[in-house]
Formats: sequence, C-alpha cells, structure tokens
Amino acid sequence: MIRVVRVLAPNPGPFTLEGTNTWIVGQRPSVVIDPGPDDDGHLAATAREAGDVAAILVTHAHPDHAPGADRLARDVGAPVMAFRPGPGQERLRDQQPVEAGGVRLLAVHTPGHTADHVVFWAAEQAALFTGDAVLGRGTSVVDPPQGDLGAYVRSLRRMQALGPRVVYPGHGPTVFDPAAKLEEYLAHRAMREEQVVEAMRLGARTPEEIVPGIYREYAPELFPAAERQVLAHLLKLEDEGRARRRPGHPAGGFDLVEDRRCDRCGRSAMSHSRLCRRCSLDALQEQPEHPEPA
Ligand SMILES: [Zn+2]
Ligand SMILES: [Zn+2]
Repeated sequence: MIRVVRVLAPNPGPFTLEGTNTWIVGQRPSVVIDPGPDDDGHLAATAREAGDVAAILVTHAHPDHAPGADRLARDVGAPVMAFRPGPGQERLRDQQPVEAGGVRLLAVHTPGHTADHVVFWAAEQAALFTGDAVLGRGTSVVDPPQGDLGAYVRSLRRMQALGPRVVYPGHGPTVFDPAAKLEEYLAHRAMREEQVVEAMRLGARTPEEIVPGIYREYAPELFPAAERQVLAHLLKLEDEGRARRRPGHPAGGFDLVEDRRCDRCGRSAMSHSRLCRRCSLDALQEQPEHPEPA
C-alpha cells in the first residue's frame, strides 16, 4: 500500500464540487499532485501533510489546479512538473516516470478536457490520479476550443485500457469502481452523440436548436453550458467527416453528412449517387446500347 492523503482546497463551486483535491502520494519524500489555487491556508496545510517533497505534479493548467504550484515549490524546495510547463517548471512527457518515496507514477497524456491534460498512473497499486479527466461525481466539462471531445473519448479509452482499481479524481470522492465509471462516461457521450445526430436528422442545425430537444430535463439556465457540450459533439462529428459546417451560417450551423448506402448492395454509396462504385459500373453495363424507344 502507498500513502495517499487528500487535502481539500477551499474553492467549492459548480465545476469544482467540494473543492480541488490536492493529493499527497508516498512519504519521505512525497509527491504532491495538483496544489490547487494559490491559497495561504491550503498551501500551508499541504506543506504540513506532505513533509519532504520530491516533486509537485500538475494535471493541467486550470486555475483550480495549478496556481499554487510555484509557491509550494518555493516553500518545500521541490520542482514543479507539467506537460505544458510555466516559467521555471519542468516539462513532463507522455509515459515519463516520476519515482519517489516508494511510489512510481507514470505521466499519461490524456487530452480532451484541455490539450495539456495528464493523469498519473501508479501501476503497482493500479491507482490512477485523474485531475479533471474523471471526476468523483458528475461528468467532466469538454468546452471547445480548449476542450476536444474526440480526443477526450480516446483518452477515456486509454485510461480504461490501464485497468485502474481506484481513481483519485481532481474533484469529488475517490472512485472505487473505475471500470464502471469509465464505461458510464463513454456510454454517456455515445448517447449524447446519438441524440445530436437524431436531432440533426430532424432538421436542427445549431447548438441552440439542438439543446432544448435533448436536454429537456434541464433548467433553461443550464442551456448555455449544454450548448457548449453540443458544440463539442458537432466539432467531433465534423472531425470525423460526419458533419459539415454550413457555409455562411451565422450561428455555427452544421449539416449532417449521412453515410448513404448503395440501393443495390448496402455498401457505402458514392457521393451524389444512389449506388456504390461497383454497382454503378454494373448498371452502366446493363444499359442496352440502343435503348428501345418507349
Ligand atoms: Zn480543469
Ligand atoms: Zn478542476
């Protein structure tokens, strides 16, 4: 077993839940993950709990995770390591190990919530420190252009492939059934995508047009946030060639690019045709040279 201690930052809110979880891993020396906001009391409590510190790791550069890092680094005399380091900080690469106090943590690049997001994997303990990629409660925000839903879904699969037995999230309670949680996250995004595609089949073109239909159970005050999530889905569909931006549409409208099927064989049809390439060649050959006059 490794020592894992949480110090809760005093920054509760709709996106931070009870506040940011600062995790202290191992001891003599320890590793600190996400020092949180630059708050006197929180940084003092973190330094007290952490004792000797080998490294301060940052999951991503958001204001609820990173700003306390430099001051804590000065207070405890340890380096700050991040995927996108600030001045004086060290660069953390994908798959880079950080070893200290009987723990070995591997940085795993998990873009999606932000492009610079990393999680930390303690393979021996099958423990994953997830920052904002997986939360203890609710879903992670993917807000374009910082957020990228296609990348986020790939990152969820990457975390799933690690097979964690416990997740220590950036916000909310420790997750003791990560397999179910990751499956639920993937299923949730897949369901929303299906709803967005269905709304577009029915003629909706913009986040504003799509949201009221599929977020019926939400209060209208939440619609602007929901529109950002729908936009993330539309951009993912565009990336995958399944949606196309409407030229000149002021409100960010998108058209669905339906995967049209060949009328004869069911393979993908060519664009502007009801047939696939092979069937359209067959159809040409079937044409009589001199069609009978009708
Ligand atoms: Zn964040
Ligand atoms: Zn956060």
